[in-house]
Amino acid sequence: VCVLGIESSCDETGVALVNIPAQGLPVLLAHALYSQIAMHQAYGGVVPELASRDHIRRVLPLTEEVLADSGRSLADVDVVAFTRGPGLAGALLVGAGVACALAAALGKPVLGVHHLEGHLLSPFLSADPPQFPFVALLVSGGHTQLMRVDGVGRYQILGETIDDAAGEAFDKSAKLLGLAYPGGQALSQLAEQGNPKAYKLPRPLLHSGDLDFSFAGLKTAVMVQTGKCAQAQGCAGPDLPPGVLADLAASTQAAIVEVLVKKSLTALKQTGLKRLVVAGGVGANRLLREQLNAECAQLAIKVHYPELHLCTDNGAMIAMAAAMRLQSGEQAATQTYGFDVKPRWPLDAITA
Ligand code: ATP
Ligand code: MG
Ligand code: FE
Repeated sequence: VCVLGIESSCDETGVALVNIPAQGLPVLLAHALYSQIAMHQAYGGVVPELASRDHIRRVLPLTEEVLADSGRSLADVDVVAFTRGPGLAGALLVGAGVACALAAALGKPVLGVHHLEGHLLSPFLSADPPQFPFVALLVSGGHTQLMRVDGVGRYQILGETIDDAAGEAFDKSAKLLGLAYPGGQALSQLAEQGNPKAYKLPRPLLHSGDLDFSFAGLKTAVMVQTGKCAQAQGCAGPDLPPGVLADLAASTQAAIVEVLVKKSLTALKQTGLKRLVVAGGVGANRLLREQLNAECAQLAIKVHYPELHLCTDNGAMIAMAAAMRLQSGEQAATQTYGFDVKPRWPLDAITA
């Protein structure tokens, strides 16, 4: 059984084809991705209308690329999956519309997938896939959650951010330092040359005793600290000497990562589980991976990540999540191709 997956929730158009074997995990046959980041950089963030229009331009050529790369044709597609939410409504509608039109033309069923379930299950595409149950740290541009995951569709949220997401904290801090949107990866690269102890920044909710996060205050602290440095140097924040910028970046990254690591360990302790899955764009962060690996190794806890290039949005994770849902008994819709999208959609609202 072949599943075509289409992702269009934000500023990446992703298409992928996975095969569901008689036994074992679904296998990725091919995937293709187009990132709109360069287009949105001029505006300092994602412009929803431009995102929708660009998804329209990209989605069919990417689909053709995936079919060609996998040596398959549309006739081989058994189920068409798409990201149903959460995300930008207009952007989601492009993927949903194309998926349902394709399915209708082919006479094949469709399946709407939760974007965060895609992130969550993306480590199953790696060479070292996890096993259920596990604790999941979902750290993306729009979400920061700790979850207990007992199987496909069996998600219990243990804690989440009460304001900004971790990726957002990276991106907003990066912007203060003059780095281009989305900035998280650039900030972490800049941090490699800096001293993480140069500036004392808050670790919000570190000792709150629960598993919630808060990053808005940290962003403000970065703004205040950057302003102080800039005043001392008599320049604007982004024009600070490279060494100062690197120290600010390293101090910011250290604060975010320390909170993520500490809370993940608390979640593992509370649940008694011995497996941690990290997913979402911030899961690509090197310091986060190093510190989690080091801490978890001491506790005999196994940590699983998506492959680096599958941490941020992609079609492979959507096709994979659909395939795993089909494997666990979900029926794709065959009769009607009327569709809707869910711009707001909590992950624990879906079931097995
Ligand atoms: P959501 O999935 O919550 O809707 P999203 O799809 O925008 O949000 P992702 O694509 O999972 O989020 O991740 C993008 C985020 O990951 C951005 O905030 C980006 O800066 C951040 N990011 C990517 N690479 C790194 C890195 N190496 N270090 C820190 N942050 C990173
Ligand atoms: Mg993106
Ligand atoms: Fe995402």
